[in-house]
Amino acid sequence: MGIEITWCDQLLFNGPLFSYHVSLLVIPLILHPSFDLPLKVFFADVVLPLALPKTFIYRIPQNMVEFVEVGIRVVVPFGKNKLYTGIIEQIHDRAPVGYTAKYLDDVLEESALINEKQMKLWDWISSYYLCTKGEVMLAAMPSSMRLGSETKYIPNPAFEGDITGLSDKEQMLLQVLHDREVMTAPEVSEILDIKNIQRTMKRLLEASAILIMEDFKEGFKPKVEKFVRLTEACIDEEGLQAAFRSVQRAPKQEELLMAFVQLSERYSAEAKDVQKTVLQKRADASSAQVTALQKKGIFEIYEKEVGRLIYGEGGGAGPIQLSSIQEGALTEIRNSLEEKSVTLLHGVTSSGKTEIYISLIKEQLELGKQVLYMLPEIALTTQMINRLKAHFGDLVAVYHSRFSQNERVELWNTIGDKNSTKAKVVLGARSALFLPFSELGLVIVDEEHETSFKQFDPAPRYNARDASIVLSGIHGAKTLLGSATPSFESYYNAKGGKYGYVQVTERFGGVALPKIEPVSLSGKESNTGYFTKELLDAIRDTLKNNEQIILFQNRRGYAPVLLCNTCGWSPECTRCDVTLTYHKAQDRFVCHYCGNRYTAPPSCAACGSHGMRLAGFGTERIEEELPIYFPDATVARLDLDSTRSKNAYSRILTDFQNGSIDILIGTQMITKGLDFDRVTLVGILNADLLLRFPDFRAGERAYQLMTQVAGRAGRKEKQGKVIIQSQDPNQWLIQQVKHGNYEGVLNQEIKERKEFAYPPFTRLIKLTLQHREAEMVDYCAAELKNELLKILPEHSILGPEYPVVARVKNRYNKNLLLKLHRNQNPADFKGKMKNLTGPFFAKKEFKSVRLIINVDPY
Ligand code: ADP
Ligand code: ZN
Ligand code: ZN
Repeated sequence: MGIEITWCDQLLFNGPLFSYHVSLLVIPLILHPSFDLPLKVFFADVVLPLALPKTFIYRIPQNMVEFVEVGIRVVVPFGKNKLYTGIIEQIHDRAPVGYTAKYLDDVLEESALINEKQMKLWDWISSYYLCTKGEVMLAAMPSSMRLGSETKYIPNPAFEGDITGLSDKEQMLLQVLHDREVMTAPEVSEILDIKNIQRTMKRLLEASAILIMEDFKEGFKPKVEKFVRLTEACIDEEGLQAAFRSVQRAPKQEELLMAFVQLSERYSAEAKDVQKTVLQKRADASSAQVTALQKKGIFEIYEKEVGRLIYGEGGGAGPIQLSSIQEGALTEIRNSLEEKSVTLLHGVTSSGKTEIYISLIKEQLELGKQVLYMLPEIALTTQMINRLKAHFGDLVAVYHSRFSQNERVELWNTIGDKNSTKAKVVLGARSALFLPFSELGLVIVDEEHETSFKQFDPAPRYNARDASIVLSGIHGAKTLLGSATPSFESYYNAKGGKYGYVQVTERFGGVALPKIEPVSLSGKESNTGYFTKELLDAIRDTLKNNEQIILFQNRRGYAPVLLCNTCGWSPECTRCDVTLTYHKAQDRFVCHYCGNRYTAPPSCAACGSHGMRLAGFGTERIEEELPIYFPDATVARLDLDSTRSKNAYSRILTDFQNGSIDILIGTQMITKGLDFDRVTLVGILNADLLLRFPDFRAGERAYQLMTQVAGRAGRKEKQGKVIIQSQDPNQWLIQQVKHGNYEGVLNQEIKERKEFAYPPFTRLIKLTLQHREAEMVDYCAAELKNELLKILPEHSILGPEYPVVARVKNRYNKNLLLKLHRNQNPADFKGKMKNLTGPFFAKKEFKSVRLIINVDPY
């Protein structure tokens, strides 16, 4: 920032704005008449990672004035003895009114960490989703980039770096941390009597000498790989020749040595490290053969920490030969994006959308642009990354919530670095949106209909698809939405001409869409009642053909309820109003709302009877029962419970991919864009469950889920089969799924949405009130509604109403649903609402009530 001198750091303006202006004009002249430039005092608005609604203003010490700029991180004091890392949002000369600004404590970097475009996105999210910028900051930045007083540090147990490279201060700090094991920055600061400790912490973090406790809890371990080098004796040319002679009679060893020479690029200017596994692969040798060379004193094996980012190793995949249908779609998309900034690609499952995306990405890379490829869940990335890396190698990087803090920071820095040749294409879920892109050319939102693009808790409760479109707009880039079952909003926008629309109705290679067969559960033949005869027969045939099966049951656990045979009582969570689900593997009854676990009740709590039975079925029970029918088949389960550990997900998928699993049972997780060559049968075990969603999107959702899971069947050369089990196979929606009539479902539903004023004809804002006492939420909700009637007509406010599960974790919830008509300016309304809810919840009686605002809640 080009700010001219200033000379006085001591002036404090604690009066009203008025005296500040007076001081500005008068004081320099009086005190320092010899100075010809007037004193300038600068303040910074700082976003802090807190949910507090207002902006905090800090005074910039004169010695920092020339270093600060918008978007950099600063350390600021907050409350009593607390320090936070915040981001400068604005620099100005307006002193705060009503309090004396504290000074910035420290500046953490030389240039903006959050660029202007990122700031714009933060602004949009906080104003559209009615949350604070602090909340956006919490979602946007890896936690190790916003260290605060509470952040706990530990020494990195795997750090073997060179301590001599550290400054005295850093070494001292490291020593203290080693002695005390866990410390916060203020504690370190006190012991060492050093101010501005955060900067030192930051450097030690960057050097991997220390870790943040949170990472440690996440089980973060720096990734160490084995490398191979020549021993001292063999390193020079003479030694190497001798080594070659000594392996003359062991062809494999000779080959290994040769491969090493090549891989290490020994004769080039810069010799390279050689990873042991890479070497083995190149020479097609075993680990034992490398060890043999080690024993001969030729190789030395050492360990080294390697970058943790999943960059592609591939590259080198040949150019894609698009089919003429794909070529046609590609041309249409290009033309459409010339005119419209957003285009919807509506292509049936397996129509080859990914290959079309790849062609578009190539074009952007040639233009030197970045590409953001959004996927609804990291789950999907496992397969997608392999496909993309085959084409783009290191240019592709993945970003997702299961990464450790260090991994996130590493990727953040790579993308922020304009000179980097890596990570030009980012594949990520929701939060990838917040990375420091500087020149996005294209944003692809794959499976754009997926509800997991929406973040429900905590704030910001944003929809990443919608925010992506905004982000793309900020960059002047283009957005391509893709789906086999587009969301109603996107479809409606496309049909109305707001978005471009490109359709592909055929699968790649002319593969037939699966044959869908709805069957009735009521005449079930199996004694347990989960499987119809049709499904069992189909599974048998499929196994016989050595093909694979996916079974979809949208309920995890073993059985949803334990019922008393005498009175019908079933155990409920003590903290939530829901019955518990039995999980057999842990032999516990689990609350799916709060996670509480309970042991089995010894008898019925209502009537004392001992006759209790488990009713209904979840994925776990299916997994247990299948072997009764198919003892030779290998069965696996893919749901939240089976994929808790970091790599479980990809392990299960890999096993399924390589054929070591025959039948895969799963919840919605398996519906998402997975592509398996040998799956020819999909069974939907209970479609009725899907049709019972409690909101206005029930039809849309059920259609999407069934169609998506059906789409997993019959890739490549064989038509797949899908069996949908339900109480009534003739239900209208199931029949539409059978005939692939999405248009019909849309037309039907859109009429109802129009009639009852639901999206896309209105915008919804859900207000949820939470309190420990039911009377309080009742009272507060009624009062709030009265207030809201001042700014909205009665028919635009639904409720107050208890949700299906009214009490969660001992808090009662009550909802008000506001409907804004399309012609109503949302920004305008939101402003009014803020002005109303602010004072309302500041009232003493309502201070303890929690308000949750959810814009576009469904
Ligand atoms: P979608 O994303 O529309 O469901 P995919 O992109 O996964 O479809 O394509 C389905 C299958 O067809 C994949 O196995 C993919 O590798 C293959 N495929 C698609 N386009 C081509 C192409 N042009 N050349 C070769 N294989 C293709
Ligand atoms: Zn009972
Ligand atoms: Zn509970």
